[in-house]
Amino acid sequence: MSRRAQAYIRLSALQHNLQRVRSLAPERKIMAAIKADAYGHGALKVATALADADALAVATLDEAMQLRWHGEQRAIVLLAGVQSLDDMRTAAEQKLQLVLHDPSQLRLLTELEPVWTLAVWIKLDTGMHRLGFPPEQAKELSVLAESKSNVNLLGWMTHLACADDLSHPATTGQINAFKHAVSGLHGARSVANSAGIVAWPETHQDWVRPGIMLYGASPLVGGRATDHGLQPVMSLRSELIAVHTLSAGDGIGYGQTWTCPENMPVGVVGIGYGDGYPRHAPSGTPVLVDGRRVSLIGRVSMDMICVDLREHPDARVGDAVELWGEGIPVEEIAEAAGTISYELFCRLTGRVEIIYSP
Ligand SMILES: *Cc1c(COP(=O)(O)O)cnc(C)c1O
Repeated sequence: MSRRAQAYIRLSALQHNLQRVRSLAPERKIMAAIKADAYGHGALKVATALADADALAVATLDEAMQLRWHGEQRAIVLLAGVQSLDDMRTAAEQKLQLVLHDPSQLRLLTELEPVWTLAVWIKLDTGMHRLGFPPEQAKELSVLAESKSNVNLLGWMTHLACADDLSHPATTGQINAFKHAVSGLHGARSVANSAGIVAWPETHQDWVRPGIMLYGASPLVGGRATDHGLQPVMSLRSELIAVHTLSAGDGIGYGQTWTCPENMPVGVVGIGYGDGYPRHAPSGTPVLVDGRRVSLIGRVSMDMICVDLREHPDARVGDAVELWGEGIPVEEIAEAAGTISYELFCRLTGRVEIIYSP
């Protein structure tokens, strides 16, 4: 029995997007962000497809261990490091690279038995005010790291808070604060997420850290993948499971929030918020039925959505439906639903079948 909703993942599009990163940030090393199961695309398959990435970045120790268990040999960076001595030993044993961002992690380092060697990045907080040491501590942190024979300081990292907005003044401030803090210190530099890669060349430095752009969505507010030469990787699909002719005045779905203005054909698509389609997508959100754009009408239910078929009166049960992908930019759905493509990707549920193609 096949499931009603499928996410088709085109691996060649991932590879194309990785090449886009290479041409936008030539000569830089690439740390591919594949946290949260590669933004819902499947971390193991994505890691394999991105064989050309220099390193992989994940959020949790579990995510890193899953990759190692499946034989991943490349550098894996734990973007928030670890919180316990046990996890620090595991990270050392598995040759993971840790990002140190908090004094509690420095204390763990002093407790770590000298048999364990750790490769670390140090994260500085230049304005995100989430993780990182104050930039003015960079020099003493560098001295501390270099005084420990079992610590290999790989380099320095910071994260951009507002790079998705080209007119925001914070980014230049962050770039300058970082440059100033690490000036003269040993180690590589890493600043750019996808938005930095596409819009702020100064942030490219030694290592870039692309995430969302690899999956073929624009990192910029109001942007589209095609603006940056990116190809959508995921196509979320389902099918029409019913088609009706309703009468003027009929209300659609829970709350009857949409009323038919005339006698008209209405389709029911086999996908809903139980699959991860956003419940806040309003009436008017585009849906592609059999290659043609129609509009969502009424509220998104758990297992279904309804669509206005007046523009496509020949539509039939079984017709293919795309919710986002090559025909409908995921950014457009995210904007309609008041969220970002990152969240739409990550929130697909286990009910959606993931199908890979080359
Ligand atoms: C997730 C993440 C990235 C990738 O961000 P995108 O906006 O998806 O490109 C880069 N750096 C850090 C520290 C991250 O957590």
